[in-house]
Amino acid sequence: METRDIYLDHAATTYVLPEVKSAMDPYFCERFGNPSAFNSKGLKAKGALRNARKTVAELINALPLEVYFVGSGTESDNLAIKGVARANKEKGRHIITCKIEHHAVLDSCKALEKDGYEVTYLDVDKYGQIRLNDLKKAIRNDTILITIMYANNEIGTIEPIKEISKIAKEKGILFHTDACQAGGQLSIDVKELGVDLMTLNGSKLYGPKGIGLLYVRDGVKIEPIIHGGGQEKGLRSGTENIPSIVGFAKALELAQTSKDEESKRLILLRDKLKKGLLEIPKTLLNGHPTERLPNNLNIAFADVEGESIILRLDALGIYVSTGSACTSKTLEASYVVTATGMPDEIAHGSVRFSLGHRTTEEDIDYVLDVLPKIIEELRNMSPVEVDLEKILEEWNKNE
Ligand SMILES: *Cc1c(COP(=O)(O)O)cnc(C)c1O
Repeated sequence: METRDIYLDHAATTYVLPEVKSAMDPYFCERFGNPSAFNSKGLKAKGALRNARKTVAELINALPLEVYFVGSGTESDNLAIKGVARANKEKGRHIITCKIEHHAVLDSCKALEKDGYEVTYLDVDKYGQIRLNDLKKAIRNDTILITIMYANNEIGTIEPIKEISKIAKEKGILFHTDACQAGGQLSIDVKELGVDLMTLNGSKLYGPKGIGLLYVRDGVKIEPIIHGGGQEKGLRSGTENIPSIVGFAKALELAQTSKDEESKRLILLRDKLKKGLLEIPKTLLNGHPTERLPNNLNIAFADVEGESIILRLDALGIYVSTGSACTSKTLEASYVVTATGMPDEIAHGSVRFSLGHRTTEEDIDYVLDVLPKIIEELRNMSPVEVDLEKILEEWNKNE
């Protein structure tokens, strides 16, 4: 059988769009100046940096002075959390986050715990959303920061960001959201969302890898975590990565312009895939039925290992994941899926399909053609047979 090239792992990273690559190209060998240099090469680079910042600021409805370019989504999360925590420690040392955050957030919080901060990790419901009542109850007099992701990278669930903003504002607590999965798919208007800090990155929206952005509302107290030459108004030292910054601005512009139309197209394809896959016996949908990213589908297949499914699909040229790239090295059930109350034995069979620009209906039809047979074959070899009724009963306890 011919091998295809069906990439359904856009939540892990995307290819760079040709328009983005073209926009970046001149900044490698010709316009390579250092923006901090006073010669005209430097001034040209500085101009490119200024334009990129202005473009990005307009796209997220912020001021250029509120936009900081950093080295990745991970760095942005680290800077937001550690930077706010350290700058506001006189006010308090308590932070609130949730159990299904990306490791960049979870591990930044863990690092702060070692420095004497206290962190509350909120539970999520069966669909992966935090409960606003839990959030209200967790707030203390010394709470300085709430950090809750916009949309989850594994199960696609969208968190109630506007409601969280309202609660944070009422209590005078800063609110950061990790929006790495939301760029190009959902509104990232910081005023409309009401957030104080927001993280985005290039590698999830058809821009280059290794570039991130932190929006910091004017007036928010934050300290740098990287020290040096004082670039980015002292918040992120290091010579600016001009090609990637230019590419990121271009990618964000293209993503936000095509967002509505592309989301509609992806939802149709995603729902076709969902319907077809859920017709396979003993399957469940992970994440929220409606409040989810347009391109994300996460399905639990009982009595099979997600990794076996990945390998079988890979051999046919179909690329999917079990969860986040960072946890897929260890063969543990996804901490995100298990946090929704899904028992381990079925969480193990979870597979994420994340669609994107190049995904066609033909791709979806092909997956629907081959996957039911693969599942059947794997189940025939499987020593386990779970009781789906019992699984559902267990899962529904986390209403
Ligand atoms: C990808 C991702 C990150 C990390 O971004 P990098 O640019 O790879 O460091 C953080 N949070 C979420 C939700 C992500 O999807």
